[in-house]
Amino acid sequence: MQDLLFIDKLSLAQRPDRDTTPRARRYYVWTVGCQMNVSDSERLEAALQNVGYSPAPRPEEASFIVLNSCSVRASAEERIFGKLGELVRIKREQPDTRVILWGCMVGPQNRSIFERQLPMVDHFVSPSAVDEVVALAPNSIYTLDEPALPVASWAHPPVSVHVPIQYGCNMTCAYCVIPLRRGHERSRPLDEIVDECRRIVARGAREITLLGQIVDSWGHDMPGRPQLPDLLEAVHEVPGLQRLRFLTSHPAWMTERLIATVARLPRCMPDINLPVQAGSDRVLKLMRRGYTIARYQALVARIRETIPGVSLTTDVIVGHPGETREDFAQTLALCEEIRFDKVHIAAFSARPGTLAAEQEADPALAVAEDEKESRRRELERLQERIATERSAGLLGQTVQALVEGENKGKWRGRSPNNKLVFFAHPDDLTGRLVPVRITQTSPWALQGQALA
Ligand code: SF4
Repeated sequence: MQDLLFIDKLSLAQRPDRDTTPRARRYYVWTVGCQMNVSDSERLEAALQNVGYSPAPRPEEASFIVLNSCSVRASAEERIFGKLGELVRIKREQPDTRVILWGCMVGPQNRSIFERQLPMVDHFVSPSAVDEVVALAPNSIYTLDEPALPVASWAHPPVSVHVPIQYGCNMTCAYCVIPLRRGHERSRPLDEIVDECRRIVARGAREITLLGQIVDSWGHDMPGRPQLPDLLEAVHEVPGLQRLRFLTSHPAWMTERLIATVARLPRCMPDINLPVQAGSDRVLKLMRRGYTIARYQALVARIRETIPGVSLTTDVIVGHPGETREDFAQTLALCEEIRFDKVHIAAFSARPGTLAAEQEADPALAVAEDEKESRRRELERLQERIATERSAGLLGQTVQALVEGENKGKWRGRSPNNKLVFFAHPDDLTGRLVPVRITQTSPWALQGQALA
């Protein structure tokens, strides 16, 4: 699960916008959560634009407001409740505004939204149901009786687009609420995914990231049991595609064939996100993750010897119920040993309905909040040092940056290893691959000079 890649994304609607579309045909989308939510919101915005809507820069200028919510941590839910509170005034002043609460907070097993009074919400819609949300737009020309929405028909897709290839998850990790909210795993058919990628790239995207909760398990629920390497090979051939990535892998599902395929396909980037979650076998067992640290170490060794220059990122939860100081020391030691490029760190947050929430209720297992925070900071310090050293190793080297856009007067791109690269240039290079010589590094980004 990509739960720790926590994003609070401003919608397209908050970009400067000079079009004169009336409020009745304006939408506002606000997204909290993981990359899957961001992808759902991007698809929703493309679909709303297909049915005649334009983005609004502020919620008060929209007649259709969608909050795409996240349940992975209690703090994410609180932020959504805060945002809903802000909408009360808008609904009072403009009663025709339609408000949709969408995403992981909506589900039969989430009591928190039913325990609160939410009169400002007109409709609740389950995660990823893009077509249901579009059908609720008051001035939509679309109804659910029509054939499937052309959600892939972006007018102007970004340079880099995330394409979901599966929904839900069949695992039962003790801390995770995703299977309760997003349901069991459903893979999308290969032809449908390839067709969507082809259309997105034909309209200008240059990089595709295939997205799933356990992307490596894609296809196991389909006739013929195709595997992720089959899909990578097919998407890799899409004309005009320059880069291909995938998120999120699982150590119990990653195969030799997948590693070899990434190494063999030139447009498949050397960049693997492999969440370990804890450095102790005892905690991994409590988490019900389904692998051991020895298995994880062996996988990392295999990945590094097969894919030269690969970057490795991971997710870690600190303070899971039952995690002792000794267990945590093993997590620190593992991160020191593997030297990840990036570690997404979260302090454990109990989610109602999960096994770990029951464990947290046991005082013998629960970790105190200040201790969780102290472990989070300690790991963060360690990782900052490692990331600083790894980035510094790139000084003077030339990387190929795929330019995604502008940022404070500089061009912002990404290296094959998915590191942010900033450089100055007089021309608009959006969508281009530019060689950049690295002149300055920090743990989180690189600065350089364009060589073209
Ligand atoms: S149950 Fe486990 S594998 Fe599935 S989404 Fe949650 S953390 Fe990821």
